[in-house]
Amino acid sequence: MGKRGKAVICREWNAPVVVEEVEVESPKRDEVMVQIKAVGVCHSDLSATNGTIPMPPPCVIGHEAAGVVSEVGEGVDDLAAGDHVVISWIPMCGQCRYCVEGRPALCDVAAQATLTLPDGTSRYKDAQGNPLHHMAGVGVMAEYSTVHRDNVIRIDPDVPLDKAALVGCAVMTGVGAALNTAKVKAGSSVAVFGAGGIGLNVIQGAALAGAERIIAVDLADKKLEYAQVFGATHTVNPENDGDAVAKIKELTGGEGADYAFECIGIPATVSQSYEAIRKGGTAVIVGVSKATDTVTLGTFLMPFQEKVLTGSMYGSARPRTDFPRLLNLYKANRLKLDELVTATYGIEDINRAFDDMQQGVNARGVIVL
Ligand SMILES: [Zn+2]
Ligand SMILES: [Zn+2]
Repeated sequence: MGKRGKAVICREWNAPVVVEEVEVESPKRDEVMVQIKAVGVCHSDLSATNGTIPMPPPCVIGHEAAGVVSEVGEGVDDLAAGDHVVISWIPMCGQCRYCVEGRPALCDVAAQATLTLPDGTSRYKDAQGNPLHHMAGVGVMAEYSTVHRDNVIRIDPDVPLDKAALVGCAVMTGVGAALNTAKVKAGSSVAVFGAGGIGLNVIQGAALAGAERIIAVDLADKKLEYAQVFGATHTVNPENDGDAVAKIKELTGGEGADYAFECIGIPATVSQSYEAIRKGGTAVIVGVSKATDTVTLGTFLMPFQEKVLTGSMYGSARPRTDFPRLLNLYKANRLKLDELVTATYGIEDINRAFDDMQQGVNARGVIVL
């Protein structure tokens, strides 16, 4: 039967995105059509429109969404029309080595289905009948979207969907980096480079884990103010306070932090994250840099210091258990979601939402449909 609805499309890299009426195909076997109610505006969406994350146009962007199931395909017996859901941009196939090892964020199917559904085809067609890519295998900045059932996580209907949407990317990625990837210990010290949508969630994840000292580093004072709301105990603006690594060492008894998180995606702060940790500390790279970026690290001290340098993909998410766990923390007033949504937009305002994100005015902007 299909549906028609608006979608945000990147037609050309480095050009404003456009909102067009598209045709959304009905779900095939093991697929689900979702009426999207809220979509977070993530830096990765912008990165998909300028080639930093190479998603070739024409591409429906958006990967942080919540909505209501409108139709299910054959073989989907655990979801029904009317269910409230959050989109996971990782389809957990449950079969590959990584899923079996309990690391579905590294799922091989997810690694392949980055522009289409897992079967390699699109459910979106534009007015000319041409297929459109699905960003990250979902592409949910749209009124309706058909995605694979493995990308859809049912949630309690009492959680507001504009808050729940954020669990689909920023919250999972940030809180998960602290709780799942780094397993931050109570009483520890944490440095966070970048206090945007992801960094703020690393900060609140570290606070949830009981970190004693949480040092937020950013060039925007506005973001450092937000950082304190989410649990930062100290803030560093390198423009006023000088070298961030020196400042972090000063705040951690000269040793360096137990953990550092890079949430920007630039080589300079990747190096600084590694330099800012103590012997035996852990540096976690969350920010997505350009495909051509590299860093140079001194190797002499590596054996002596036993530092750990690791990436964190989607907060090492296990969405089926982590999304409900995070939303339960929200309901128990332990996880801040309301404070994250500092502006809402209509779908037609997406370019303004991107501008605001680049100006650093929001903790998170959300498109409400
Ligand atoms: Zn995202
Ligand atoms: Zn898998």
